[in-house]
Amino acid sequence: MGENTEEYTSGDKAPTDSIGFVAETLLPVGRRASLFIAYFAALAVYGQLVGAQPPPPAPQARFVVVLDAAHGGDDAGGSLSNGQFEKTFTLALSVRLRSLLAARGIQVVTTRESDAAVEPDRRAEIANHAQAQACLSLHATESGLGVHLFATSLSATQPTRFAAWKTAQAAWVTRSLALEGVLNSALQHAGMNVTLGRTSLPVVDSMSCPAVAVEIAPEMGPDKKAAAGLDDPDYQARVADALAAALVEWHSEAHQP
Ligand SMILES: [Zn+2]
Repeated sequence: MGENTEEYTSGDKAPTDSIGFVAETLLPVGRRASLFIAYFAALAVYGQLVGAQPPPPAPQARFVVVLDAAHGGDDAGGSLSNGQFEKTFTLALSVRLRSLLAARGIQVVTTRESDAAVEPDRRAEIANHAQAQACLSLHATESGLGVHLFATSLSATQPTRFAAWKTAQAAWVTRSLALEGVLNSALQHAGMNVTLGRTSLPVVDSMSCPAVAVEIAPEMGPDKKAAAGLDDPDYQARVADALAAALVEWHSEAHQP
């Protein structure tokens, strides 16, 4: 259906263009003017027709990001500075990142929108149902400095028709490491210290999408000591901006032929 629409569009436009060309080169001035009026009238009608029948989005135009704010409800996660819980930090980051991505036209699905307990299996189920092109599981910690990126510790396997639960991520290892690389570049570009690792996380291991666990620690300064804490609004904004930039980059890479 998309192909038909495109053929109609280009086929319809070509004749109007060539009428304009003929009018300009071969006809006397008076007739040129009336032909140009007809030309622009035709363009206006053409515009209305196109406006009335918007082409359906091409299949590759669908790009979905899943944001998983880790922990929630009874599971508070780690205790952060100023008495804040990890579950609160991850939800705030998820909300901020979602609006940054939405502003750039990227569709986002979240695993939770409130302080609710969501089982790991349910989180992966939400991600897999969304058929996302990128899944970020968001964590925060007071230990270490900078941003820690984790891909699954499962070994890469060939994709199968039906991926087993808990090891679904094995078929996505290569893409997840590529996503991790894009996140790494964007965070480093924003001046952040990044640590790369592999780990086993139930949520990520059950996801059938390029998936990375992102753990935010306090910022590392030039002297390799803590520069900004997790409760620093400016640091929070810079982390979210860098992650959004990475996903925009991932989006544009995914759309290259
Ligand atoms: Zn955590």
